[in-house]
Amino acid sequence: MAKPVVAIVGRPNVGKSTLFNRIAGKRISIVEDVPGVTRDRIYAEAEWLGRKFIMIDTGGLEPYAQDIIMQQMKRQAEIAIETANVIIFVVDGQEGVTATDQEVANMLRKTSKKVILACNKIDSQKYKDNIYEFYNLGIGEPIGISAGQALGLGDLLDEVVKLFPHEGEEEYDDFTIKVALVGRPNVGKSSIINKILGEERVIVSNIPGTTRDAIDTPFEAGGQKYVLIDTAGMRKKGKINESIERYSVIRSLTAIERSDVCILVIDGETGVTEQDSKIAGYMHEQGRGAIIVVNKWDLVEKDDKTMNRYKENILKELSFMSYAPIMFVSALTGQRISKILEMVDFVSNQHAMRVQTGLLNDVINEAVLMNQPSVSGGRRLNILYSTQVSVKPPTFAIFVNDPELMHFSYERYLENQIRKSFGFQGTPIRFLIKGKS
Ligand code: GDP
Ligand code: GDP
Repeated sequence: MAKPVVAIVGRPNVGKSTLFNRIAGKRISIVEDVPGVTRDRIYAEAEWLGRKFIMIDTGGLEPYAQDIIMQQMKRQAEIAIETANVIIFVVDGQEGVTATDQEVANMLRKTSKKVILACNKIDSQKYKDNIYEFYNLGIGEPIGISAGQALGLGDLLDEVVKLFPHEGEEEYDDFTIKVALVGRPNVGKSSIINKILGEERVIVSNIPGTTRDAIDTPFEAGGQKYVLIDTAGMRKKGKINESIERYSVIRSLTAIERSDVCILVIDGETGVTEQDSKIAGYMHEQGRGAIIVVNKWDLVEKDDKTMNRYKENILKELSFMSYAPIMFVSALTGQRISKILEMVDFVSNQHAMRVQTGLLNDVINEAVLMNQPSVSGGRRLNILYSTQVSVKPPTFAIFVNDPELMHFSYERYLENQIRKSFGFQGTPIRFLIKGKS
């Protein structure tokens, strides 16, 4: 089930980042480890009362100039409304209600999204009564917190978690492949979608098959059911100034979270950019099936080596995603667009593939015979037994004498051997290394 997304919005300096950092659990490491990718903390996973969720900070590191604050606030709120299940609207309890707060509240009141009003900087009893004036915002009951002093955060999160969709409420049946097209603005996502939906064999359903505000597009082709996830943002183009590419990354998070297979669209003219790496990083971290589509291939001057050079370059930039098939298409001419759904089917199957325990152990035993783990501190890793514990993404439990002895490089080696034997193209693979109990 997709993790709910919580967005934090509010004026500069009310304490959004402080709150974000307090709630944030593990960092999304891959993205931050990719060379050239700035450590821009916009996304973190967190957990409260056993519910995992994704938290986004729509403000983040953006430069704030006094005269454009209002405009940026509006964009932030729009993004939050579009992407989040629950919005935490943070205000400054020591400063009181400001015109900007009013403006943001007006926007948030108009949406059906659930909004929680967090009145920050209530550091002590002395400020307790400050929260009352915030009832005027018409957002509901303000919850007094102090992100700085870590006060009231539990009560806040209790309310947030209450508003999450109930677990087990799946939006689509198991036979429907959920596909997301993600990528920077103007790479041609909408053009590709229109081309796919315009294909003769594709039957677009008119039933809005969704329980959320997002406008998903369910369709069928060759007897297979699909749904294009979260294309709402693309349809409403122009509403939000996409010049800030950071927003395109934030937007793609929800789509990635809700999908089985993600298609990362890259502009053939520009190649892989930092934003592309970030989006790819999220796809990888979230364990989604992955396809890389290089669009605008018509604009690229080609000889017989161009495609391979492109592939090598993508592999270099997105080395953590070497399992993803790469396609070269043109939405303009329609070149190879009809192959995209075939690839989605293929990757979806690989993503959901289960291998038999007996076969898996044969492969791993053979791998160990070919290349023994090295000895460390006089002890050698001993692999006792392996089994696939889940799919989407394929996850393997490997029982060993001592998990400490499993080195990253050896895990990589096993992954490669497993891929050689079984494929798993287009999907990340995960390992759980377990000690003897
Ligand atoms: P953002 O711009 O909304 O992300 O705000 P920051 O998290 O950067 O915080 C702005 C300022 O408010 C910083 O100086 C923080 O230390 C301070 N701050 C954050 N939370 C609290 C709080 O609960 N109480 C007080 N007194 N200051 C806080
Ligand atoms: P999105 O923002 O990613 O949805 O991108 P759009 O689908 O709106 O495309 C952005 C621009 O690129 C538009 O002007 C398209 O006509 C153009 N475009 C899209 N795909 C192609 C392509 O394959 N070749 C060329 N030459 N232009 C394209």
